[in-house]
Amino acid sequence: MMTTQETTETRDESTGVIDVQGIGASPGIAIGPAFQFAKVEVDVERRPIENPAAEWERFEAALETAREQLGQVLAKAEEETGAEEASIFEAHLMMLKDPELLKEVRAAIEDEELNAEAAIHEAAESYAQMLEAMEDEYLGARAADVRDVAERVVRVLLDLPQSPAAELSDRSVILARDLTPSDTVLLDKSLVLGFCTAEGGKTSHTAILARSLALPAVVGAGREILEIPEGETVVLDGTAGILIVRPDEETVEEYQERQERIASTLEKAREKADEPAMTRDGKRVEVVANIGNVAGAQSAVEAGAEGVGLLRTEFLYLERDALPDEEEQYKAYKAIVDVFGDLPVILRTLDIGGDKELPYLDLPQEMNPFLGVRAIRLCLARPELLKPQLRAALRAGIDGNLKIMFPMVSRVSEVEAARELLEECRRELEDEGQEVAGDIEIGIMIEIPAAVVMADRLAETVDFFSIGTNDLSQYTMAADRTNADVAALVTGFQPAVLRLVRDTIEAAHGGGIWVGLCGELAGEPLAIPILLGLGLDEFSMNPPAIPLAKQIIRQLTVDEAREVAREALRAESPEAVEELVRERVPAADLR
Ligand code: PEP
Ligand code: MG
Repeated sequence: MMTTQETTETRDESTGVIDVQGIGASPGIAIGPAFQFAKVEVDVERRPIENPAAEWERFEAALETAREQLGQVLAKAEEETGAEEASIFEAHLMMLKDPELLKEVRAAIEDEELNAEAAIHEAAESYAQMLEAMEDEYLGARAADVRDVAERVVRVLLDLPQSPAAELSDRSVILARDLTPSDTVLLDKSLVLGFCTAEGGKTSHTAILARSLALPAVVGAGREILEIPEGETVVLDGTAGILIVRPDEETVEEYQERQERIASTLEKAREKADEPAMTRDGKRVEVVANIGNVAGAQSAVEAGAEGVGLLRTEFLYLERDALPDEEEQYKAYKAIVDVFGDLPVILRTLDIGGDKELPYLDLPQEMNPFLGVRAIRLCLARPELLKPQLRAALRAGIDGNLKIMFPMVSRVSEVEAARELLEECRRELEDEGQEVAGDIEIGIMIEIPAAVVMADRLAETVDFFSIGTNDLSQYTMAADRTNADVAALVTGFQPAVLRLVRDTIEAAHGGGIWVGLCGELAGEPLAIPILLGLGLDEFSMNPPAIPLAKQIIRQLTVDEAREVAREALRAESPEAVEELVRERVPAADLR
């Protein structure tokens, strides 16, 4: 198969050093032993037993242990990731109490005299198959949960570790096929030096997690990384997307030096994180955060965020059985607005569709979900989805500085329809005698090429733009952002994407409105001089990227940045763009 991102492996026969090239997903360097995050396969043996009563007791004891384990996982998930991921484990706990399932297990042990491992495995399997047979996506996902939970009990019965995470005892570089939210909850993050996964792209769960923990990560590195022996020394370069196996002394020294240099740059940047980002010639730039929940709001403030440029509200909707009602949303948004006081919080309305599904909405399957009824299209087709969110936002914005932003806009008529819906909500609330926020700024995301083309007209309809380069690059390059085979194409460093960013900024300023950027590009050190030079007003990024972004801005003048931007727009490839910024702005070169 032809792919644009070949994972390459080179081996130096004389030294045995192996380089694996993947995709740099979170910057930084890690050096240490490899830890293979591979689950030990469970082999369930079927055997007759002699004492069914004792076997049932053995099963009940295992059930109790599994419940305790889940209780701990749940508490850890709530503490580290917030309610949305924790709810998966609540569902698992419920399953361990399911009377139907337990009745089946008991019958197999007592009537068929079957061992407990086989009894729970078979009962869960037939339950899971029944769920799958219903051909409903939501129930299909539940089938995976049933199997997962049964496997947990089997592991207890067989005395196998609940997850490879429990075996991690030394600071290591984690190698895995890919990591799910449940895998990562169990990892002791203080022992994780970095991540390298065989699969996934820049927006995979592992990549996002690594960036939010400020740990280096390489994704899409190919299956050969799973063959690397445990304990083998590896060097992980999350900036260049390289994993070096069995490095020689010289390589280790070189990377250690780089690691120290990067650490001291970041340390200096963190010391000034709370100070504003002002260029050498006195231009003040706003640096704000991308967050998903109230925990993110707190870490954003600590990182020096001057507000929120993108609140991804999906967190309230995912991993649950039903839509959150207006009251629940109001409380969640208000809690975030309260963290920021007078600072701006841009609430992006629901962006569902594409790779984010809400099984409980029972939406029709689409051939190309990224090109389908996603985000504002879905919300306008089903106003009952959007209205509670808009009502909650109007109420949550009373005391703070809340702004509302609509995603995936491609036409003027969509903005008009969304605004009408907002006004309808305002009127309804007022008629009900409820207090609502006064003047709320309304913005849209510019993430579809059609919106860039129409940006001058769109600028007449809103108060601000925020450029979403994650989607803008996938739609411009016609390359699915979740497909590792084309992931290398999906980068905001593509000159084609940079030209669209320039056009958007020009159109916004021509129309007298301000413009931000909240795609991953805004937090990329090498992109910052270009975006500054293009005249971007607001940079919105993952909180850990904020201190360095501010520091890079402080070291530039607007004229220098303009020159870099001019050259970048003339470059032919993303590599050439990155190279020229490295040459021109050494402060942005974090290698
Ligand atoms: C984007 O598309 O750049 C963006 C910020 O939105 P999301 O990544 O949530 O699609
Ligand atoms: Mg987007």
